[in-house]
Amino acid sequence: MTSTWSAPGRVNLIGEHVDYNDGLVLPFALPMTTTARVTLTSSGNVTVCSADVDQPVTFAVDVEPGDVTGWSAYVAGVVWALNDLISQTGEADDARPGGIRGLEVEIRSDVPVGAGLSSSAALECSVACALNDALELRLDRPTIASVARRAENDFVGVPTGAMDQLASMLCQEGYALLLDCRTMETRQVSFDPGHADLTLLVIDTHAGHELSGSEYGDRRKACEAAAARLGLGSLRDADPDQVASLDDPVLQRRARHVVTEIERVHEVVSVLDAGRVQDIGGFLTASHESLRDDFEVSVEELDVAVDAALAAGALGARMTGAGFGGCVIALCRNADVGEVEASVRAAYDQRDWVAPSIWPTTPAQGAAPAL
Ligand code: ADP
Ligand code: MG
Repeated sequence: MTSTWSAPGRVNLIGEHVDYNDGLVLPFALPMTTTARVTLTSSGNVTVCSADVDQPVTFAVDVEPGDVTGWSAYVAGVVWALNDLISQTGEADDARPGGIRGLEVEIRSDVPVGAGLSSSAALECSVACALNDALELRLDRPTIASVARRAENDFVGVPTGAMDQLASMLCQEGYALLLDCRTMETRQVSFDPGHADLTLLVIDTHAGHELSGSEYGDRRKACEAAAARLGLGSLRDADPDQVASLDDPVLQRRARHVVTEIERVHEVVSVLDAGRVQDIGGFLTASHESLRDDFEVSVEELDVAVDAALAAGALGARMTGAGFGGCVIALCRNADVGEVEASVRAAYDQRDWVAPSIWPTTPAQGAAPAL
């Protein structure tokens, strides 16, 4: 039995560094996908190959955390999490004795890897969907997302929130996905820049900074400390007056970003619900300024791309993802796209930086069967 599924990467339109504060995020799926072709065998092993990697990797079907590292850990993590779910639900006892007995997995992808566009979730979700189909498990999409998230959190060991996998599983073409990270409730929000003669550009700066891992942990800790000082479970419940009462200036800035960013998500959703996509630009730019000045997770490469895009007439621009590198998004009138792109390229060229990759994107569908 062979099954082939594709799952997309994503861009977070707005709501950055608020997922771990019980906040709201608004990702949409990219047309770029990772495809997993899974064939069931009875070899007792899983063999994985990726068009992006030279050598295939083989591990046992009863793999445990720590057994596999490197890129194939994302696949091994899905096998492990799915095995665990199958054993818990007793599925293996009835229709499919033994659960997963052996697999061959082939991966190909056009999601840029390590650019903050969630190639990791695209990989996990494509494998999880293909396995769900091949094994006829009939898991619903949120359950598949949670299997994929467990793979990343508990097998690979990356402490991400729920956004990436839910976006890859639940997004719909022409919509962004409003996710409440407290209740895990989701809602589709119409997001169709093309309809308003607008283009959303993704600018991959190709910048990556060594510090990003430790800084991410530091920001999470600062948010927890700020919430604790206010006697709150999370900054989701903080109001601007409480934030202003924090006497530590760093904690105050960190908390102010979270509180204002959650408010901006509400505002962007209202504007999109009212069919005024052309009016979200100011919120995108305000988000960038807050991430740059209050949360301090931007870097020069991101700021230069945002400033150059705005100088050439973009309606709004912001870094997207965790920061310290990765991508910028810029919302432009169709007529201004060429100038915005040229302005960003010129700014990079002037500084002798590696040329950015720039492409227009549209909100695409979530995971789907593929050929
Ligand atoms: P992002 O999710 O932003 O792209 P991550 O660091 O979370 O960045 O995930 C990137 C990692 O996921 C890569 O280093 C690699 O281990 C794995 N990965 C993603 N896509 C592929 C692929 N097509 N082939 C092999 N490994 C991949
Ligand atoms: Mg990732």
